[in-house]
Amino acid sequence: MDTETPQSWAYYVGNTRRTDGTPIEIRACYDGSLVGTTFRPPDEAIEEAVNSAVTAFETASRLPAYERAEILRAMSREVESRSEEFVRILALEAGKPVKAGRVEVDRCIFNLRNASEEAQRIEHELIPLDLLPAARNRWGMIRRFPLGAILAITPFNFPLNLVAHKVAPAIASGNTVVQKPASKTPLCSLLLAQVAYDAGIPDGMLNVLPCSAEKAEGMVGDDRFKLLTFTGSSEIGWQLKSRAGKKKVALELGGNAGAIIHSDADADDAAKRCALGGFAYSGQSCISVQRIFVHASIFDRFVAALELATNALKVGDPLDANTDVGPMITPADAERVENWIDEAVESGAELVTGGKREGAIYHPTVLTHTKPQMKVNCLEVFGPVVTVEPYRELEQAFASVNDSAFGLQAGIFTNDNRALFQAFEKLEVGGVVANDVPTFRADHMPYGGTKDSGTGREGARYAIEEMTERKILVLNLD
Ligand code: NAP
Repeated sequence: MDTETPQSWAYYVGNTRRTDGTPIEIRACYDGSLVGTTFRPPDEAIEEAVNSAVTAFETASRLPAYERAEILRAMSREVESRSEEFVRILALEAGKPVKAGRVEVDRCIFNLRNASEEAQRIEHELIPLDLLPAARNRWGMIRRFPLGAILAITPFNFPLNLVAHKVAPAIASGNTVVQKPASKTPLCSLLLAQVAYDAGIPDGMLNVLPCSAEKAEGMVGDDRFKLLTFTGSSEIGWQLKSRAGKKKVALELGGNAGAIIHSDADADDAAKRCALGGFAYSGQSCISVQRIFVHASIFDRFVAALELATNALKVGDPLDANTDVGPMITPADAERVENWIDEAVESGAELVTGGKREGAIYHPTVLTHTKPQMKVNCLEVFGPVVTVEPYRELEQAFASVNDSAFGLQAGIFTNDNRALFQAFEKLEVGGVVANDVPTFRADHMPYGGTKDSGTGREGARYAIEEMTERKILVLNLD
């Protein structure tokens, strides 16, 4: 294969690197400089990619576990050896501060390695069928088989690791993939595809198309795909589910995560964690802390500590090693956040700190005296804004967290086990995090949401469940 030039990025149809189609420029979020050029594939290339994924399934589904595992191990090693290249692309195309970029790259390295291990322990079952006389001496052997070609659509905010969350379990379970990266951040996907081919992935097992949303929507309705796995906004995700026909659908969507700081919590520690969980990568994470509910007895102390921790964050160039908070993905997104904050303040919210925009940068902002129906509470902000409100009874805090269309993750700071287990039972989310922010995620845990936040779980082992189907062989031993 050719060596990639920094400015022109091929897309992948099978093992063929292609540069036909309409050129698109990828520009840095921070200063608008040109990061690279890639191409909108023409319709024939999209059709070829789908065919290539369908045809390659014959080979992919028969790959032995040790080969699937080895491809993923080799990819993990290759990402590690190119980690600074990935960090730089993340900083440029996604505006992700290098501190956060390194975390994403490390997570991807682990994610690929973990998937290689899961490839070797996909669970199969043997069950007795003789629970009734007619099934005497019969056993059921249950195997998980890969589904076929998978359509994977990914968002801009973790353009490396969230792609790995789809591509790695697909390889681990012997499926094939057509992946469509977000238009703002396709370069990480294209570099990951190169890594996959350098790691020896069979022709057609991974195809990466930086196509438009419209062309991707066309593929969503295509029956040749057996699974649509989508990560992105709730609005688009549910809309695509209704167009997906008979294929399986897994959706990892938005959130407005709540954190409860109970009376016995260490307010200073919780405040520091909330500042990071709310403002890292300018709050552009589906599990960013957005709504904080603090027991009235420690409210003032917590707000003061949060203000301090927020003001200590360094805002600026994502390529600067000390930056905590860089630009938002576009100036328009920063303007939207600005409008929502202005609207809240006009309706009585009080600004504790922040409330300032400079181009695409929005400064980390803490609001209090907000109302549940304000956009900064009831919608997904997806920006560097948190709201803080007091509560007196724990039940009230649970009700406030649940007063949301979303249900991805929630956090509760307490050492009171009764309170913790009540939270586990009552919070309507896919995951409850004790003594940390809802932003915590280990990549091998089952991760996903309830309500508008989606359906299905990621984390290699759980994604493999979504990407395989059980088939039973009934054994008659008579
Ligand atoms: P988005 O606008 O929904 O886009 C996500 C992906 O869908 C992009 O590749 C986009 O392509 C594509 N797309 C948009 N419209 C489409 C259509 N009609 N048919 C087919 N594909 C379409 O989301 P985003 O702004 O990139 O990402 C932010 C959202 O993702 C937030 O809501 C966040 O909470 C959510 N998210 C969820 C998780 C999770 O694990 N639950 C993780 C990360 C992010 P274009 O880029 O070409 O428009």
